[in-house]
Amino acid sequence: MTTALPSCHLPSIDRLLKWPSVTPLLAEYGRTAVLAAARELLAELRQQSRQDGLTTPPFTETALSAQLAERLARAHAARLKRVFNLTGTVLHTNLGRAPLPDAAVEAVVMAARFPCALEYDLDSGGRGDRDEIVEGWLRELTGAEAATVVNNNAAAVFLLLNTLALRKDVIVSRGELIEIGGAFRIPDIMARAGAKLREVGTTNRTHLRDFENAISPRTALLMQVHASNYAISGFTACVPETELAQLAHARGLPLVVDLGSGALLDQSRWGLPHEPTARATLAHGADLVSFSGDKLLGGPQAGLLVGRRDLIEKLKKNPLKRALRLGKLTLAALEAVLRLYRDPDRLPERLTTLRLLTRPAADIAAQAERLLPMLQNALADWPVHITLAPTLSQIGSGSLPVDRLPSYALAITPLRKKGGGLRALETALRQLPIPVIGRITDGALWLDLRCLDDEAAFAAQLAALAPP
Ligand SMILES: *Cc1c(COP(=O)(O)O)cnc(C)c1O
Repeated sequence: MTTALPSCHLPSIDRLLKWPSVTPLLAEYGRTAVLAAARELLAELRQQSRQDGLTTPPFTETALSAQLAERLARAHAARLKRVFNLTGTVLHTNLGRAPLPDAAVEAVVMAARFPCALEYDLDSGGRGDRDEIVEGWLRELTGAEAATVVNNNAAAVFLLLNTLALRKDVIVSRGELIEIGGAFRIPDIMARAGAKLREVGTTNRTHLRDFENAISPRTALLMQVHASNYAISGFTACVPETELAQLAHARGLPLVVDLGSGALLDQSRWGLPHEPTARATLAHGADLVSFSGDKLLGGPQAGLLVGRRDLIEKLKKNPLKRALRLGKLTLAALEAVLRLYRDPDRLPERLTTLRLLTRPAADIAAQAERLLPMLQNALADWPVHITLAPTLSQIGSGSLPVDRLPSYALAITPLRKKGGGLRALETALRQLPIPVIGRITDGALWLDLRCLDDEAAFAAQLAALAPP
């Protein structure tokens, strides 16, 4: 005699799809997705009940459709989620760098929704060049003769090396052979672009004569790379741009500068640490300057190249330019951001990144005071202690890591010395509807409030925090 298999309690697919509780799922996700998820679920339960023998209880409609709903919700959830960046790093590469200002968001929506004059000259009715959408603004803002744009600054450096230095030497100081974010290394980009790296000087000191001695008939250009994410201090020497430019020009060579973050305006006017601007770098004699669109500029991911017209023309003739070009959504966002720069006085209120970078510490402290009791309340069951503490934010994305901005944080410390508790809390915060990303240092979980724009949304979801 055989015992009845528990899996016989499971409904057939056809019956399950007819359940009233499954009807809303069909409406939300469509028949194909529900069918696939239901097949998976039933197969798993059948397998499980075979293993568990008769101990598996009968399957009810309520339980099964709830499981199905959860499975569908999980599979259907968007992978690119909005988060709260409370890491204290304003331009956080892993969290998307610069949040776009409203003007740029509106321009993106327009370009996404409607046909637009992307490569179309509205005066003549003839074909246009998509670069011209931003070239005029960039010339005005940097004083450059010409400009072009590509997908990001890594692409900009790649394109310029491949165009101007294929199979030739590029002279760079050893102190500037940088790595950014793991995947971008000057020597690697150089090799892939087909240029030959000619390192000169030492890690801490490079002199003009080092460049001078390295110049040969094989030299294509001199290159300077802005020390983005580190600082060399102590017994150091580097060659000023003006001297390097003079040397390059005396030998008939261009000087190319990879600025990285590349501010458009001198940020010291807003009390921020000095960063070289594209305009000043060109004025010092650089022939071509490259920088990112989504770092200090505060725009979308893009690589901007400004400088001598003949060099820009060469870059635009390289077939690789077509492969690295910007899409219309990015161009729309970039143009909108560049237009904001024409009114520098109102930039701090209009450009999101600049507003966050210049947020007064007192403002952040007041916000921390409002949120402290709410967080204490939400974490009442957790073995933690929460305080309002001063901290220092970072600009991020290639501004000197030693430059810090005074800020305030909610600092969460475990009551018991044993670690682990903080990791669990960090996970719970990450699992909120809008995940909250903080940083763990010095045995505490720090929520730096500098970038907390949407206080109401943050407070509203605290109630959803899972218990420990
Ligand atoms: C950030 C940076 C890059 C890479 O720019 P992306 O826009 O991230 O591609 C290259 N060079 C320097 C000096 C940088 O700071």
